[in-house]
Amino acid sequence: MITKDVIVLGAGMVGIGTAAHLVSRGASVALVDRGAPAGETSFGNAGLIQAEAVVPYTFPHSARVIFGVLAGTRNDARVDLTALPSHARRWFAFFRNGTPSAIRRTTDAMVPLIKAALPEHKSLAEHAGVSHLLRPGGYLRIFRDPADLDGASAEAEKVAQEFDIPTERLSAAELAEAEPHLTTDLVGAIHYLEPHSVPDPADLGEAYAAHVTAAGGTLLQGDARTLTRTGERWTVTTAEGPFSAKDVVIALGPWSADLLAAHGIKVPLFVKRGYHTHRQAAGNAVLNHLVVDEGNGIVLAPQRRGIRITTGAEFTHRDAPSGSAQLSAAMPVAEGLFPLDNTPATPPWRGARPCLPDLLPMIGPVDGAPGLWANFGHQHLGFTLGPATGRLLAEAMTGGTPFTSLSPYAVNRFAR
Ligand SMILES: Cc1cc2nc3c(=O)[nH]c(=O)nc-3n(C[C@H](O)[C@H](O)[C@H](O)COP(=O)(O)OP(=O)(O)OC[C@H]3O[C@@H](n4cnc5c(N)ncnc54)[C@H](O)[C@@H]3O)c2cc1C
Repeated sequence: MITKDVIVLGAGMVGIGTAAHLVSRGASVALVDRGAPAGETSFGNAGLIQAEAVVPYTFPHSARVIFGVLAGTRNDARVDLTALPSHARRWFAFFRNGTPSAIRRTTDAMVPLIKAALPEHKSLAEHAGVSHLLRPGGYLRIFRDPADLDGASAEAEKVAQEFDIPTERLSAAELAEAEPHLTTDLVGAIHYLEPHSVPDPADLGEAYAAHVTAAGGTLLQGDARTLTRTGERWTVTTAEGPFSAKDVVIALGPWSADLLAAHGIKVPLFVKRGYHTHRQAAGNAVLNHLVVDEGNGIVLAPQRRGIRITTGAEFTHRDAPSGSAQLSAAMPVAEGLFPLDNTPATPPWRGARPCLPDLLPMIGPVDGAPGLWANFGHQHLGFTLGPATGRLLAEAMTGGTPFTSLSPYAVNRFAR
């Protein structure tokens, strides 16, 4: 039996970020995953470090949107009605968090995390020797309808002023200058200036994981479901034998609730699934920025494997077979927006954003299970937040002063 100070279960961006901060504070750490680091949700995301994303992605309380989603005519959100009976409580709780007062509560709790997100990525990237993978330049949120652009700009301006988020409104001509190959029927864009993007999210995750091992951490293959507790210690079985530690971090992303349930603790985690595919730019077309077409629920992200096209939220069982509807609806829109080759450069990929009803992650000790700690539920923003929430949890675990209070992210907040 090999002993460590901490076992981190799950080597996605969140587990890697947590392990990196624990190691930097002198803890001996085993980082355990059943697969390769950054091989699941942290592999296939749009690769955007959203330094502006203080306002949560709630479900709009608009009859038009609700009806469109239920009727299956929208692509930014799709609901699998066969999953409704088993998910109704969680989805409804999520829906209820779309009121102005709930959005305000979540926003206030997101601010300290979002403000730490980019600095923590920059610091970790520097230590890992991969600062060149973080690309400045922000992203463009494009619009086809002048009224939509006006409304969104007014909202963005308010948020920008209150939270000091550098933002610029672009006219159609300014957008065409920034992105000459985008379609001409756009009326303008909001340019969020601070976010960074990456050429490949998995490359960044792997580089951070390599930094963890270079700094003394141990990366192991193993199944988190083998976790057992004897006295004050937890043990997990890995390909290199059993490892034990007094503290264990659950950073299993969309699988986190399964492990907690096995230890008698229920949390209302659900997923918003999403897909991606890649196409090469046709001819000499170049996409300079990551582009978000919110109305159609798609992102066009210029990445190493091609233009990565990602989709919006699919509300269904985490493990239901992949559906083709979201990508099928997304591709004609993407092709209309930017010249793309016809041939997919990679097969479709599917992932699951791990969400809690208030769209805040769970970070901190797990009540009733001494030595068990949570860091999961980062919804649309786990790639952005992994290093920042990793720091927060590591500070709490190692007796430091957390850079912000953990109370909004408490694991037992839904039980209160
Ligand atoms: C289409 C799409 C686009 C997105 N775009 C962005 C974006 O641009 N920016 C952003 O910030 N976020 C984005 N996200 C969200 C982001 O990808 C997630 O929030 C984030 O990856 C979650 O990270 P994680 O480490 O919590 O989970 P994961 O990356 O899923 O890591 C969990 C790990 O646990 C491991 N695991 C599971 N079960 C076991 C077990 N039994 N034993 C051992 N290991 C196990 C898995 O193998 C996995 O490696 C996007 C998500 C999707 C789906």
